[in-house]
Amino acid sequence: MKKYIFVTGGVISGLGKGITAAALGRLLKSRGYKVASQKLDPYLNIDPGTMSPYQHGEVFVTEDGAETDLDLGHYERFIDENLNQYSNLTTGKVYWNILNKERNGEYLGSTVQVIPHVTNEIKSFIYNVGKTSDADIIITEIGGTVGDIESQPFLEAIRQVGIEVGRENSLFIHVTPLLHVKSSGEYKTKPTQHSVKELRGLGIAPNILVLRTEGDIDEEIREKIAMFCNVKSDCVIPNKDVPELYYAPVMLEESRFSEIVCRELNMEPGVSDMHEWNEMLDRIESRSGSVTIGLIGKYTKLHDAYLSVAEALHHGGYENGVNVDIRWIEAEDLEGDDADAILSDLDGILVPGGFGNRGVEGKIRAARYAREHNIPYLGICLGMQTAVIEYARDVLGYEDANSAEFNEQSAHKLIDFMPDQRGNIPKGGTMRLGAYPCSIAEGSILEKAYGKKEIQERHRHRYEFNNEFREAVEAAGMRITGTSPDGRLVEAVEIPGHPFFVGVQYHPEFKSRPNAAHPLFRELIRAALSE
Ligand code: GLN
Repeated sequence: MKKYIFVTGGVISGLGKGITAAALGRLLKSRGYKVASQKLDPYLNIDPGTMSPYQHGEVFVTEDGAETDLDLGHYERFIDENLNQYSNLTTGKVYWNILNKERNGEYLGSTVQVIPHVTNEIKSFIYNVGKTSDADIIITEIGGTVGDIESQPFLEAIRQVGIEVGRENSLFIHVTPLLHVKSSGEYKTKPTQHSVKELRGLGIAPNILVLRTEGDIDEEIREKIAMFCNVKSDCVIPNKDVPELYYAPVMLEESRFSEIVCRELNMEPGVSDMHEWNEMLDRIESRSGSVTIGLIGKYTKLHDAYLSVAEALHHGGYENGVNVDIRWIEAEDLEGDDADAILSDLDGILVPGGFGNRGVEGKIRAARYAREHNIPYLGICLGMQTAVIEYARDVLGYEDANSAEFNEQSAHKLIDFMPDQRGNIPKGGTMRLGAYPCSIAEGSILEKAYGKKEIQERHRHRYEFNNEFREAVEAAGMRITGTSPDGRLVEAVEIPGHPFFVGVQYHPEFKSRPNAAHPLFRELIRAALSE
């Protein structure tokens, strides 16, 4: 029998519910269990693919091409298992499925309702993850906060799963803040009590409470929460501030978190083997010195918009024994006269993926600065495209070089629609998405970094290097070092003679792990260190 763990949040958002779920996944994996995880998001979009990063942070892309919530990135990085399209469900997707079935007459004349049709659809999605993987434990995080109108069908669905699989096979973890009132120096448990009451009103009695707090919870408070929220006192787990995300599993385990979870689910706790994780923490701890990497984006005020890129940069630092100081630079700020001054003291430049006109000229400027000043450069997706445009403008002299995305009229569309992306296709879920193979050229930086010639990387784009200009660009010196195996699509470019100038059409950041930095991030940081 598979075990189902549900993680809900109360009072406020931003409590690190996703990190709690991800950290628990890692801890259970270290006890020898196979863990699958998923996130249920109550909003009405089918997926976050069409949402502004300001609304939602980055869109995390899975191997099989699903555009998903950024928490899935945490799950992959912590648990180190690839997720799939069954890992993220939204209300939009639920209704989409139901309404399609309704139009196909699949409900055989019944009135289609929230209960039972919506809740059944949610339940079948939860059970599906169990069925499609060999996981022993399925961890399901519910987005939003208990009490939201839109989360109700999700909470009802997980309540029912709890009944269906039985108490021994299901566990409800509720994450709330332990408020600290500075002026009186007191900890306040009432918000937690109210939130638990709200949850109980929906028929869910949480088994474990994870309390977001700055420091330890003293015994008296723990007992009080246990008493008034009806949980065992060792089931009150403090979720304390940690210097880096990746300390979270170890911090939670100080309170025997995963051991208690095993006990509550009537599972053997086994012997926890966290040595690989702890070795990684040792590497984090023993870093010395720092490199500064400029991250040139258009949502730099919201770091979550570039979450996986930022994490991958840090992973590269862990492996090189150095702190990575990310300088968040608004691309538009590079469009004025002081661009060079802004970029002058960077050890490396990274232009991440992006969409739309705003800030593109600034990104092109950053690529030029990196090329001309021998600063290590990694361009990802749009960052590769801007590097190619820059090269075409400056080295080939195509002054109007551009991407069709920004100037349809340009005579030199170095970047153009991919053949299957033309025409009036809908916006959502229609880009080139997910993992595709790529062949790497001999003697390239890529070959050295990956140590192999065939790779698989994840994509999310509509435009691509225009083959019309391949010869001219290569003749001018830029090298195409990665292509689709049939040679048709350009996947990577490099500039020979430059210490590290790499542009990739794919998104390496999604595959980086804290204990195994992605090769390109590792090499970018290495190059930044030695320049
Ligand atoms: N906007 C570009 C495209 O669609 C780049 C996308 C990206 O950077 N993810 O091709």
